[in-house]
Amino acid sequence: MKKSDYSPISRNEAEIALSGKDTDLICDTLLRVKYHDSDVDWIQGQCLRFFKHSDPKVRGLAVKIIGHLARKHGLAVNKDAVYPLLGKMVNDKDIAQQVSDAMDDVFAYCSDIDKMGRAPNRFLHKKYKDVYEIEDISTRWIFIGDILLGGTAEEVASVKCPVCKGKLFYVFLPNKRIIDMNCKDCGAVGKYGLGTSIPKLVEYPID
Ligand SMILES: [Zn+2]
Repeated sequence: MKKSDYSPISRNEAEIALSGKDTDLICDTLLRVKYHDSDVDWIQGQCLRFFKHSDPKVRGLAVKIIGHLARKHGLAVNKDAVYPLLGKMVNDKDIAQQVSDAMDDVFAYCSDIDKMGRAPNRFLHKKYKDVYEIEDISTRWIFIGDILLGGTAEEVASVKCPVCKGKLFYVFLPNKRIIDMNCKDCGAVGKYGLGTSIPKLVEYPID
């Protein structure tokens, strides 16, 4: 999806389309407002109403747009409203990757603890784990990244694909300052931004 594929839409027209049953039209409309409406609150509200939509295509797109809003608008996204709702969707198998990516984005870009632009660290995540009562942190790429960044050898050895629990492959890419993670079983992929941190143990591709 790119901006030039989507034309602007009036609020009226969007509201009518989003109230209908045509899922293709709903998706198209969500993308048009994402690209052209400047009211983050309103777009966010439109996405949230589709979090429980019966069609995974619609749910997945609504979740994905929340992640994009977080990356683009940071604190304008209401983390306290959005994050717990995403947390309840981590077991939604059809859109697990989108939910995981969006949670990472919301956490990384909408955290008031991290206004200074520092990479969130594992201690902050542990705090969020308590605040939002996320039971199973192994379902989240960002927690896995935390472990790869600063975990013990035992913790690093125990990481698994957050989607299928299969063997996870990962590599530290020093020039991009990221850890690239992927699962060859289910195809899930994750990235973990390191800022200026250097992982203690993860330095080479592990196969
Ligand atoms: Zn997997």
